[in-house]
Amino acid sequence: MRYEEEIRTAIEAVIEAVKLCELVRRDTPSAIEKSDKSPVTVADFGSQALICRALERAFPNDPVVGEEDARMLAAPEAADILAKVTTYVGKWVPGATPDRVTAWINRGAGAVASRYWTLDPIDGTKGFLRGDQYAVALALIERGEVQAGVLACPAMPVDTGAKGVLYAAVRGGGAFMKPLTGGAPLLLRVAEAGDVGSNTRFVEGVESSHSDQELQRKVARLVGITAPPLQVDSQAKYGIVASGQAALYLRLPSPEDPDYRENIWDHAAGSIIVEEAGGLVTDMYGKPLEFTAPKMMNNRGVVVGNGMIHERVIEIIKEENRLLSTTS
Ligand code: AMP
Ligand code: MG
Repeated sequence: MRYEEEIRTAIEAVIEAVKLCELVRRDTPSAIEKSDKSPVTVADFGSQALICRALERAFPNDPVVGEEDARMLAAPEAADILAKVTTYVGKWVPGATPDRVTAWINRGAGAVASRYWTLDPIDGTKGFLRGDQYAVALALIERGEVQAGVLACPAMPVDTGAKGVLYAAVRGGGAFMKPLTGGAPLLLRVAEAGDVGSNTRFVEGVESSHSDQELQRKVARLVGITAPPLQVDSQAKYGIVASGQAALYLRLPSPEDPDYRENIWDHAAGSIIVEEAGGLVTDMYGKPLEFTAPKMMNNRGVVVGNGMIHERVIEIIKEENRLLSTTS
């Protein structure tokens, strides 16, 4: 298989990180506010430190474009937070020091290159804090195309009644899922035309400020989906589409923030998992997602689906946007 060492390293690192996150979650974490007002926790930093350390050891020349950096941890008043992060990281890396932890986190402040990794150490921090879904997301990009992706979703239910699913995909090699606690991998396939239930369902984010939930419901209705949306935080939504539990994931720009541009680490891992499960991922105009800069400057919104209703969804969005621009 292509990228065998990459996918093995990524899976090991993400599983380690998710264990750290769950440990922090059990200790009831508090949130710190970033300059953009979004929350970050000790677990976001710890997860990024562990994954960047693992990537540095296996692929020292690969840059990592991660969501976090350690600037805010350098302030004297943040010393206790850095100490906490170091204690958690130390459970997996004996001898971890604040300086080394800081350096690992900052390894994630790399630049996009012809080959690089992109990392969201906790995607859906708000879900993490609420006790809901979140994901640790890591992807490898080469020449602007996602080549491998791993998503760990510790709150995703599995058949046995337990929780925690790992999703992974390699370009051209298919996508699979398995329980985070171990077990046999299961090949992922998106929903097909005859699948009852899943084709009448779509998924969207929980946070109303991250997308246009009203328009999403309208688009879904127009495409024949009658059930209320499944609301899930993080790229776990991609896992739900890839495993055929929903036909569609809609993420249309929020009217509160119409100029918002999506981050690559919020979509890279999820998108290859859906594509390798036979689905389709584009922006709301039907354009492929671009992974050539940390923000997708040339894309707006995201439409993820099993492929069968994609064209129709894009047409409906176009028509709705036309109506909106002529009435405003
Ligand atoms: P979700 O759980 O689907 O709401 O996605 C969480 C991600 O939404 C976070 O990692 C943020 O990077 C991203 N985000 C923050 N603000 C916005 C926004 N206005 N529109 C779309 N995504 C956003
Ligand atoms: Mg995120």
